[in-house]
This record gives sequence, structure tokens and C-alpha cells, in this order.
Amino acid sequence: MKIKPLLSAALIFSSMLTYAQTEKCATPLNFRQRVKQNPQLLETRQNIEKIAAKWLKENNLSKADSAIVTIPVVVHVVYNPNTPEQNIADSLIYSQIERLNKDFRKLNDDTIYARSIFDTLAADIQIEFCLANVDPNGNWTNGINRVQSTQSNFFMTPFDNSVKSSSTGGADPWPADSYLNLWVCDMSFGGTPFVLGYAQFPGEDPATDGVVITYQHFGDRPWDSNAAPANKGRTATHEVGHWLGMRHIWGDGACDSTDYVGDTPNADAASQSDCDTTKNTCFDTSSYWASRGIDPPDMVENYMDYSADACMNMFTKGQKARMWSFLNTARASLLNSQGCSGQWNSVNENFISAESVKLFPNPVNNNRTVTLEWPLEHRFNRIELYNQLGELLYSSNFISNIGSFTLNLPNNISKGVYFLKLKSDKSEVSKKIVFH
Ligand SMILES: [Zn+2]
Repeated sequence: MKIKPLLSAALIFSSMLTYAQTEKCATPLNFRQRVKQNPQLLETRQNIEKIAAKWLKENNLSKADSAIVTIPVVVHVVYNPNTPEQNIADSLIYSQIERLNKDFRKLNDDTIYARSIFDTLAADIQIEFCLANVDPNGNWTNGINRVQSTQSNFFMTPFDNSVKSSSTGGADPWPADSYLNLWVCDMSFGGTPFVLGYAQFPGEDPATDGVVITYQHFGDRPWDSNAAPANKGRTATHEVGHWLGMRHIWGDGACDSTDYVGDTPNADAASQSDCDTTKNTCFDTSSYWASRGIDPPDMVENYMDYSADACMNMFTKGQKARMWSFLNTARASLLNSQGCSGQWNSVNENFISAESVKLFPNPVNNNRTVTLEWPLEHRFNRIELYNQLGELLYSSNFISNIGSFTLNLPNNISKGVYFLKLKSDKSEVSKKIVFH
């Protein structure tokens, strides 16, 4: 029976909703949809893989050993004004960039929890991410592109990429050869996220290149029990992994399916948003493990499994080699991106009065989101929250060149009067803030 594309899409997501609460990752689904639209894509994909494999054979990661690459990022926040929580705070965006940088540089606190059988495999990927400070026209930007939409949500975007085009209510990408495009939007269906995120593999259509994350799971938000167990910003770590060529570690199939990486143990299924270290679904015959005479358990610690965020803590050396093979082939243009090349030539460090910094709303409202605004010529880079005893309760570093910063304050702060300090390297301003 031939089913019309739209109907088959509807069947897929209705079955997903029946059998799973939320699909963690729609990257394979999005790929299948694009192959349906363009069968030629399968051959394109094979060629991209061949070129990357050739690079790896000839270079053997020697370039990665001496370099750290920084990838400029633009975050497109696509929101409907009737649902203001879709318009997430700057501080969540900064926490997400920090999470990516920790995970891709193996600076994550939980790297120590990788089991001993795997810990020598955990890799510093030597890739960092920066919020762009130069936009495609060469103008200053804070790397955050907020776009109002009339769409109430984008749950169909894994099927049609609708969030990636202004013609369908989304935001157009910045040039994919210079920026990682990260879209944040609502992908809810029936009140819960339909999927957490999806990505496009390297070397495909630049018009849809990038990563999409549902707004409820964007950012490192360990305090957010509603977002648990995906509340540590690792949906983005996983999806950016796909964007750099990673596959799911179970190869999206049975034990003989591959993720094209030798040191990730075979597995026949995804982990289930948990941390089941007893699982060993396949006898491993890959040369890496066979030569050591070991049949390893499933690597539930890996960012490319479906484990709880608190369970994930590593990419492997084999995954690093694969990422660098794409970074030097299909994604090589990013190595020359000017997206984070902006330098401040003159910084006005003159005295700034507390009155000239605006803080609102004050008292803080229930969602604990506050905005600070200051004259453009002052470049602050840190914010700190103190109680009346002078104890530091919260801090965040940021780079903002547009004179404003929106932040989500922790919700465990009790009623009372507090002080927010806005700091630069040479000056600081203190503002009184009231929590009801
Ligand atoms: Zn995935």
C-alpha cells in the first residue's frame, strides 16, 4: 500500500506518542524524511563518509593533537509571544554553551564516573564553542537571534524542518559554512515535548544544516525537575555530536549495526533515559575489544546513547577521530570562520552609576527571570547574587556586547532582599533585588 508522505508522517508520530513519552532524538527520523524527499542523498552521504575516512587514514589525528578548534554558534530562539516561556533567558543559553565546552573538552565534573573499563578511552575532543560576536554582515552581535513567530509550536519540524525557515514561521539559518546554527523552539505535542532534539549530519543541504532543541531541555538546568532526567544540557551535547558526524552507539539497529567507531562497544538498543550499568546486549567482536580479550558492557556513559543526562560523561577517542575527520572535510570551512573574531578596541571603564543600570521586574516574579540593561559602552562580563550576609548564592560569566543580559535565578532562593552585582574586570555595580 502506498501511503501519502504526510499521512505516513502522521502515523510515525502517532505511534511514537503511543509507545514512548518523549522521543529523545529525531536525527534518524529527520534523515529518513530528507532521503524520501531526495533519494540522491544516500549516495551523497556515502561520498561524504568516504572522503572523511580517507582524511583519517592519511592524517591519523595528528592535526587534532596540537590544535583546539573554536566553532562560532548562533542560537535562534523562535517563540510565540503568547507562550513567553518559549523565549528562554540569555543565562540558559550561556549555560548551554558552557555545558558544550565542558563536555567537548572533557572538563565535565562527572568525567570521574566513567567506569574503569572505559576511562582510558574518554577523550578531550579539542573542540570549543563560542557565541558569535560578528554576524554574517560583519556587524556586532551577541550570537542570539530572537524571532517572534505566529506558530504555536514546531512539533512537525523533525519531518519538515519548518523552524529553519522564515517562510514557515521559523528563523533562516546564518551561513552554515561559518556558523553552527542552533534553533530553540517548542516541539511539544499534547503538552509534552514530542522530541528533545535533532541534528543534520555533515555535508548535506546548508539551508537546513544545524541542530534543533526543544526549549524545555535547552541549557544546563539541574534545578529543573520538570526537565529531568534530561536537565543537564546534554541533549545539545548529543545533537552537536550528530552534527559533527557521530551516530548512535548502537548503530540504530541490532548487534551487527555500526556507529563507524571501533572503541564504542556494540549494543542492540538504546539505553532508556536511565543508567543501567549491568547491560551487555552484544558479544563484542570489534578488533579493539577482541584484541584485548574483553567483552565490554554497553557504554551507557556515552553522550551518543539515550541515557539520563546525569549518567552520560564521555566521548571516546574513536569518536574524536571521526569528528575530526569531518571537521577537516565536510565541515572544513568552519576552521576559517570569522564568526567569533570581533575584538573590542576601546572599552569605557569610566565610573557607572547604579541608577544607569536597569533591573526589571523588581520584585522578581514567579518565573524568576530578570533582565539587566546598561549603557552600551560598558562591557560587563560577570553577574553575582549575594544575600544580606554577603554570601555568594549564584554567579554566571558572560560576554555581552549589547548592554543587556537576561537570567533565570535559581528557584530555591527564599523571600527577602538580595544584591545583584554586575562586574567587569575593573568596575562593579550593585543593585538591590527583592524576592517575594
Ligand atoms: Zn541522536
